[in-house]
Amino acid sequence: MSDKNTKVNQDYVGKEVEFRVLRYDPDKDIAPYIQSFKLKLEHGMTVLDALMRIKETQDPSLSYRKSCRMGICGSCAMMVNGFPKLTCQTQVSEYDLDKTIDVRPLANYPILRDLVPDLRNFMRMHEGIKPYIIRRDNEELDKFIGEFAQSPEELERYLQFTYCIKCGACLAACPTNATDENFTGPQALAAAYRYVADSRDEGLEERLVALDEPNGIWRCHYAGACSEACPKGVDPSLGIQLLKREIFNHRLLGKKKRPAPFAETPEGVERREDIPQAPEKTVRE
Ligand code: SF4
Repeated sequence: MSDKNTKVNQDYVGKEVEFRVLRYDPDKDIAPYIQSFKLKLEHGMTVLDALMRIKETQDPSLSYRKSCRMGICGSCAMMVNGFPKLTCQTQVSEYDLDKTIDVRPLANYPILRDLVPDLRNFMRMHEGIKPYIIRRDNEELDKFIGEFAQSPEELERYLQFTYCIKCGACLAACPTNATDENFTGPQALAAAYRYVADSRDEGLEERLVALDEPNGIWRCHYAGACSEACPKGVDPSLGIQLLKREIFNHRLLGKKKRPAPFAETPEGVERREDIPQAPEKTVRE
């Protein structure tokens, strides 16, 4: 198996491939244009490696974002042959090397320069859904009253949505964002579900300002492209549908949020008897 992989992997080493890269300098270009670069491939070369090699050896003015180079920071997401990818995790050898490889900035965002998208609106949408636990009792913030234990099942309700690295790829794939720049977008909506589904949170009402409005959640037509594009295995379209159900229950059926793990009694604030216990600790003290 490893012999076969080694042989296959080395077939492309030294092969010259043409990269067609979008260039745009707003200070001097009227519009974006495509520039070709030819590059001999090296073993294990990712699309980001190729861009770095082009910048080092052919055109130092080529601009793109990168940081961790290990699929965690999310900054190197770009369109590769028309599909949003984390370029640090995308091997050039995945593509048909007899054809050109097209690299552009993420779709559905304004371009700041070359391959650098403007993510400010994306971040504003994320901020708008209040991406943090909201509690109604402000006294809790000052007075520690105990743990907010969750069962493994409660954790499972939102866990996958915490894996989002805010790379923006889902929004680049979204057909609604392609025609409506004010649509809240799959990342922010899935992040909203992450908090609404958290048994510690009581903030759905506050989040409705951003969610239940003309450019909000109901503009999602469930194309599912966001989930296909996500490089971290998050399923934003699932989160959006579950969030629609939460809002529906809240607005039309008047269902109360799941109980908080503490309850007020005549004797004061007490731990509820029926809350599940926290998962066992996985880190030894
Ligand atoms: S949901 Fe996935 S594709 Fe969207 S921003 Fe988060 S990690 Fe990126």
